[in-house]
Amino acid sequence: MRAPGARWTGLLLASTAVLLAAGPAFAGAGPVAWLQTYLSFDTSNPPGAERAAVEYLASLIERHDPQGELDVRVLTSPGGRANLYARLPANVPDAAGGALVLLHHVDVVPAGEGWSRPPFGGTMYDGKIWGRGALDAKSLGIAHLGAMLHVLESGQTRRRDLVFVASADEEAGGADGVGWLLEEHWELFADAGAVLNEAGVNRVAGDRLLWWGIETAQKQVLWLRVMASGRGGHGSGFNPASPTHRLVRALNRVLELEHPWRVTTAAHEAYRGLATFHSAEFAEVFDQPIEVVQAELDRRLRVGGLDRVLLPGMSASFRDTVQITRIDNGAGPVNVAPGEAVALIDARLLPDTDADAFRRRVDTVLGTGIHVEELLRSGASPASSTQSDVYRTLERVLGVRAPVAPAMIAGATDSRFFRRRGVDAYGFSPFVVASGDAAGIHGLDERIPVDAFLRGCEMMKRVVTALVRDAGGAP
Ligand SMILES: [Zn+2]
Repeated sequence: MRAPGARWTGLLLASTAVLLAAGPAFAGAGPVAWLQTYLSFDTSNPPGAERAAVEYLASLIERHDPQGELDVRVLTSPGGRANLYARLPANVPDAAGGALVLLHHVDVVPAGEGWSRPPFGGTMYDGKIWGRGALDAKSLGIAHLGAMLHVLESGQTRRRDLVFVASADEEAGGADGVGWLLEEHWELFADAGAVLNEAGVNRVAGDRLLWWGIETAQKQVLWLRVMASGRGGHGSGFNPASPTHRLVRALNRVLELEHPWRVTTAAHEAYRGLATFHSAEFAEVFDQPIEVVQAELDRRLRVGGLDRVLLPGMSASFRDTVQITRIDNGAGPVNVAPGEAVALIDARLLPDTDADAFRRRVDTVLGTGIHVEELLRSGASPASSTQSDVYRTLERVLGVRAPVAPAMIAGATDSRFFRRRGVDAYGFSPFVVASGDAAGIHGLDERIPVDAFLRGCEMMKRVVTALVRDAGGAP
C-alpha cells in the first residue's frame, strides 16, 4: 500500500505562515463553528484532498498562538497529501513524560447518495451538526485542537510536549498519512510517550454511559481481490468452467475454511477489564486465567450458552473472520456468461494470527486459475499497556463519570503504526452518543448532537490537562 515514491526525501516543510485558503464558512470562534467549517471541506478519500482543511486547522492554531510558541508544519507526502503537525513544548525544566500525541485523520469515506442534509454543508439542524466526518473523525480533531489551545492559553504547567497531528489517508490505509510520517519523519515523533487517537468504543444504553471503552488492541485487516477469467459465451451454452462458475466454487471453498475460536491476550485483557462491572455470568467466564477462559468458551461452543455471555459483536474478537463483500460479474444481460468475474474479500485476523500463513490457506483453497491481488494488509501490532501512567490517568479522570475498560476492535486505525514502534496508542472518544446518532459512521446522515459534542470537548480538555500537568507521576 505504501506509495512507490515513499522514500523520496526532498519533501517540503511548509513554513508556519500557512494562509487560510478560504474565509471560514461559519461565524463564531468556538468549537461548534470550527467543526461546522471543518466539515464543509470535502475530504472524501479517494482522493482525500486534505490540504485546504489542513490549512484551515493551521490557521486556527496560529490565530490562538500570538507568541508563536507552537512549531506548526504542513508535511506533504510524495503523493501530494497534506498532514498537519503542531508541537507545543513543555514549559517546565523538569519535563518528565514523553510527548503526548493527539492524532486524528482529516480524510473521510465518500458520502454517497441519499443524505437528508448536505454531507459537506456543516449544517446545524435539530440540535445536531451534520456532515461526513461529524463522528469519524473531525469532531475528535476539533476536541483535540480545543484541548491543546486551552492548555496553551491557560498557561498551565506542561510537563510534556503536546503534539497535534491531523493526518491524511487513514481511510485508505495511511500510506500517505501516518505510515509515511513515521517512516520519513520519525525524528518528529521519536520522543512520543503515548498517542490518543480515534476508535474509543464507549458503551451507551439509551443516553446513559455504561463504560468508557479505551481501544488498546486491534485485529489485522487483509483485503483481497480475487478474479477468474477465461471463456465466457452465450448463456445457453454448456460451460461448467466459466469464470463465474469457477469463482463461485472457489469462494465457497474459502467460506468453508474453519477458523477456530481463540482467546488472545488482547481479548482476554479487554474482557477481563469489563468483568469487574458487567454481569456476574460474564465475570464468571472472563475474570479467569486465559486457559480457563478458552476452556469455558470451548465448552459453551459445544453445549450452548455462548450467546448469553457474549455481548453483540464480541464473537469477532475470538476468531479470524472472512466476509465476501462484493461479487462483480460485469453488467451484462442474463444470457451472456462474462469472460471475467471478480470478488472482494474482507478478512479480519486476530492480532497474533500469522497473516502469511492465513494467506497461504486462502490461496490453496482458491486453487490455480484464480488470480489474487492483495488490496490492503494492515499487519500486526502489539496491544497498548493498561499499566501506563497515561492509561491510569484516563481511568482516574474519566472514572468520575463511568468506569473505564480496555477494548479490542475489529478494524484498523493509524494507532497500529505507533504501536509497532513501541509507542502506546489509545483509542479514546470523549463523546457519548446514543446508538441512533452513532449509526452514521461510514453511513448516511452522519451527525453529532451539539450537547454531546460540547460535553466531549470539555472532557477532552480535562483529560489532556491532566495528562500534561501530571506527566510521569502523581497528580
Ligand atoms: Zn476514522
